[in-house]
Amino acid sequence: MYHTRRFSGLPRRIPAGSDEDRFQRRGADSARSLRDGTARQDKNIVSPTIIPRPDHIISRANISEFALKVLYRLRAAGYQAHLVGGGVRDLLLGREPKDFDVATDARPEDVRRVFRNCRLIGRRFRLAHVHFGSEIIEVATFRGVNTDEVSDEHELENGMIVRDNVYGTIEQDALRRDFTVNALYYNIEDFSVIDYTGGMDDLKEGVLRMLGDPLVRYREDPVRMLRAVRFAAKLGFRIDSVCEAPLLTMGGLLEAVPPARLFDEVLKLFLAGTGVEAFEKLRHYNLFGKLFPETEASLAREENAFPITLVYHGLENTDSRVSEGKPVTPAFLFAFLLWEPVRLRAERLMAEGAVDHPYAAFQRAGSEVLAVQAQRVTIPKRFALPMGEIWQLQPRFEQRSGKRALRLMEHPRFRAAYDFLLLRAQSGEIPGDLADWWTDFQRLGEAERASALRPEGAPRKRRRRRRRPASPPAAPAE
Ligand code: ATP
Ligand code: MG
Repeated sequence: MYHTRRFSGLPRRIPAGSDEDRFQRRGADSARSLRDGTARQDKNIVSPTIIPRPDHIISRANISEFALKVLYRLRAAGYQAHLVGGGVRDLLLGREPKDFDVATDARPEDVRRVFRNCRLIGRRFRLAHVHFGSEIIEVATFRGVNTDEVSDEHELENGMIVRDNVYGTIEQDALRRDFTVNALYYNIEDFSVIDYTGGMDDLKEGVLRMLGDPLVRYREDPVRMLRAVRFAAKLGFRIDSVCEAPLLTMGGLLEAVPPARLFDEVLKLFLAGTGVEAFEKLRHYNLFGKLFPETEASLAREENAFPITLVYHGLENTDSRVSEGKPVTPAFLFAFLLWEPVRLRAERLMAEGAVDHPYAAFQRAGSEVLAVQAQRVTIPKRFALPMGEIWQLQPRFEQRSGKRALRLMEHPRFRAAYDFLLLRAQSGEIPGDLADWWTDFQRLGEAERASALRPEGAPRKRRRRRRRPASPPAAPAE
C-alpha cells in the first residue's frame, strides 16, 4: 500500500491527532523501523511514502535533457527508471543539482544494450556511464542489502566493503544509500517522489541521518564520514547526533581508503563553494589531520594567528571565486593547504645549511612534503607540477632588481604564483609592500617598468657562492 503526502518544499502544519496525522505517523514509523534496521529487510513489508507530482516541486524543466532521455529510454525498454541521490535532494531544496544519477532494475549489461553511447565502469561498484558529449549520466542498478555471506560480488575486508555488486530491489537499494535525504527516488513513470526512509521529513528539518547503524556504515565505507561533513557544509544541515558522535573517534579508518579516492573527496569538500565550512567541520571532528597530517601539525603551532589565516584566506578566496563562477584549480588549493609545512621545511633546510639557495630549499621541501602527503591523498602530476612551481617562484618575488623581475613576469606560472603571494601578504606572512610592489609593477607600461626596476648601482644582495665544506676550526692558542 502506498501513502501519499504533500510536499511543497516548506513544512506544512498538520493538526495533531487528525486523521492525516495518524496516517503520516504510520508511514513514518515503518520508514523508521526500516531505516534503523529493525524491520525485516528480506520481505517487502514496508510501504514507501509516495509524493505525487502535484505535491512536490520537482519539475522536468529543471532536469538535464540527457538524464530525462536516459530515464525515458530505460522506461520504454520495460525497466524501472528513477532519478536518485543528490539530484533529487537538491531539486527538492530548490537548488541546482551538480549531477544527475539514475537508478534502475536493469543490469549494467542491459543498460549497455539500450544505449550505444554507454560504457561500463568500476570494479568495486559496477556502473553504466551513458555519454552525451561531455555530459555523463551515471546509471546504477539497484543494489541488494548487504548480507553476511561472502561472495565474489560482495566482499568485505575488515568490515570495509571492497566490492558491492549484489543486485536487489528498489527498497534494498534505498537502504544501502548513505543518508535518508540521499535515498529519495523520482519515478519517471508518474513523476512522483518515492520515500522509503523518511528522507522527506529529514529534508524539511535539515537533518543528515545515516541509514542503519552508523558504526557499521562508517566501517563499511569510511568516506561516508567525509560525506557527512561535506553535506552538512554544503546544505547547512545538522548531523544527527547518533551519526555525529562516531565522527570524532573513527577518523583513523580513513587510512584504509585509497589515496586516489580521497583526492576526489578533497576536491568535493574544498572546491564546491563551502570550503571554509567544510574545513572548520573537518577540524572540529578531528578529520582534517587524517587527510593533511603535516598541515594539521603546523596549524597546532600557530604563531600570531599565522598560518591558520593563510588556509582561511585561501579557502575564502576559493569560495568567492566559486560563487562568482570563476575557475578554481586543485593546484592552487593544494599549494595553500600544504604551504606551511613546505615553508617550515624550507626554513629548516636553510638553517641546517643543507641547501645553498632559497629556490633549492623550496624545491626540496616541496618534494618532501608532497611525498608524505601522497600517502594520504594522491595529488596527480598535472596538479602537483604547477603546485610545485607556485612554491618555487615565491622566493623569486623578492628580487626586484635588474631583468629578473621582468623575466619572472614571463614565467607561465607567474599569475598563479602572484595570486599566492597576495594570499601570503593578506595573511600577514610577508610584508604587504612586497605584494603591492608587484601589483603596481604589473600595471606599468613597458618603458615605465624598466625605470621602476632598481637602478644599477643600488645596493644588491651579495651573490652567494657555493658553500665549501667547513674547514676544521683552528686549534685555540694555548
Ligand atoms: P553531489 O551533490 O555531490 O553529487 P550526491 O548525493 O549526488 O551529491 P554522489 O557521490 O553523486 O553524491 O552519489 C549519488 C548517490 O549515491 C548518493 O546520493 C547516495 O545515495 C549514493 N552514495 C554515494 N556514495 C555513497 C556511499 N559512500 N555510501 C552509500 N551511498 C552512497
Ligand atoms: Mg550526485
